[in-house]
Amino acid sequence: MEGSVWHGKARSTSSLHNWTRLVLFRPTAQVLYRDEQLGNREFTQQAAFGSLPKLKDQFVVRFEKWEDGEVRRIVLETAKMLGADIWATSNSGKSKFIDVKCDKLVVKKIVEEVGKRCKDARYSARLLIGDLPQAIFETLGESQADFDPKEEENMQATMKNAEKDGRELFRTQKDIFFKQFRHLDTIYSWFDMLTETYPDLLTVEWIGQTYEGRDIRALRISGHKSDNESIRTVVITGGIHAREWISISTVCYIVSSLLADYDAGNKKVRHYLEELDFLFLPVMNPDGYAYTWSTEWLWRKNRQQTYHPRCFGIDIDHSFNFHFERGLDSPCSEDYSGQDAFESLESYAWDNYLNSTRHSHPIYAYIDLHSYAEEVLYPYAYSCTEMPRDEENLLELAYGLSQAIRLRSGVNYEVMSACEDRGADLLPEMGAGSALDYMYHNKAYSAFVLKLRDSGSRGFLLPSKFIVPVGREVYSAVKYFADFLTEPPA
Ligand SMILES: [Zn+2]
Repeated sequence: MEGSVWHGKARSTSSLHNWTRLVLFRPTAQVLYRDEQLGNREFTQQAAFGSLPKLKDQFVVRFEKWEDGEVRRIVLETAKMLGADIWATSNSGKSKFIDVKCDKLVVKKIVEEVGKRCKDARYSARLLIGDLPQAIFETLGESQADFDPKEEENMQATMKNAEKDGRELFRTQKDIFFKQFRHLDTIYSWFDMLTETYPDLLTVEWIGQTYEGRDIRALRISGHKSDNESIRTVVITGGIHAREWISISTVCYIVSSLLADYDAGNKKVRHYLEELDFLFLPVMNPDGYAYTWSTEWLWRKNRQQTYHPRCFGIDIDHSFNFHFERGLDSPCSEDYSGQDAFESLESYAWDNYLNSTRHSHPIYAYIDLHSYAEEVLYPYAYSCTEMPRDEENLLELAYGLSQAIRLRSGVNYEVMSACEDRGADLLPEMGAGSALDYMYHNKAYSAFVLKLRDSGSRGFLLPSKFIVPVGREVYSAVKYFADFLTEPPA
């Protein structure tokens, strides 16, 4: 298919746009949240719906099926040069594609550029999401339409009074908690409920504070007896990119499942908790996450002021100090890395925290959850020529993680190096300063990124009905991982 753009079918061609009606005629579709840190500030979901008209002429196009790798380079370079939002890139095995959120003009320019620099190139460019506001409405709008703000408030209140009801409450609330995506406050109230329910197992760790003054909080699960010896810690993080909601719910789901299995007397899980500590940081980017709820669903970075008065946000996942590259792009761009390593307060706080706990809780293994593409990625992200120090081991583990997921749910997560996923073999800055490389280089013996569902048809707009299925499949992978760490194969 020679540069043919419009053979894909738009998701919705109906003349009555539901999202338009929603924005124009449902000004009372408000969901109110209290944010304790910010003094009962009210967040309205209406504000987030209000950002939809801005996306009216935007859609997501998938470039794929190229025979000449030069096409990939031209698409990436041109998309970046035009400041388009690259949703996903992949370049391994069956999955070779680049998804770009853009308008028609950008697609036209990319196609022209490919035509100019790579005559007779064969590739396909198809519409993945043809009407972005409609897709947002259908997915998040749909799931949030069922969203009951009263229920969210009740849940927070119930969790605050958890002392009496203890584990019974945890069990009964579990299903309800994972029915919908949760606001940051609710997640933190849930943390408090869990620590009250499991004082012998759980502690809330304060990692630091964000630009807008929110706490960055992690949960440590520690079931071993001795306080003296240092114990290997497995770190699982999510939500470094604000719009990747499924990564946040999945970290919480793993916490919940470990505790439930521990309670049920599951021998394996009890063994994991004797041998390993688990440190969970579900929301690495609290400001960005709150912003996706209040204002802009598709926000990715944190909310820090940059040197440009009108540009906010540093991509935390480019902000770490291992092979950091100064952001030469506009600070308005989606993957702006900042002027210096650790300029983002979140990466800075995380580094401080890990340094201060490195003797008592040395990091042993790391999994960072993202969406979307269904992939297991291993280091490095910054370079495809620099081999990780124990590639064989990493690959065995990566395929094991993928297999554990496939056995649980049948979904096939492709294994590849993070640099291939990011396109760093072509544009090295795309893989610079990542959390994965930083953790692998400085702290963890093995480190992976899991890019969760789906494979593109919903992209970042995964509805809440996927929370439990994705949680289950990733919990299986985590159990496989813990098995490997506690009883490595001979
Ligand atoms: Zn991400």
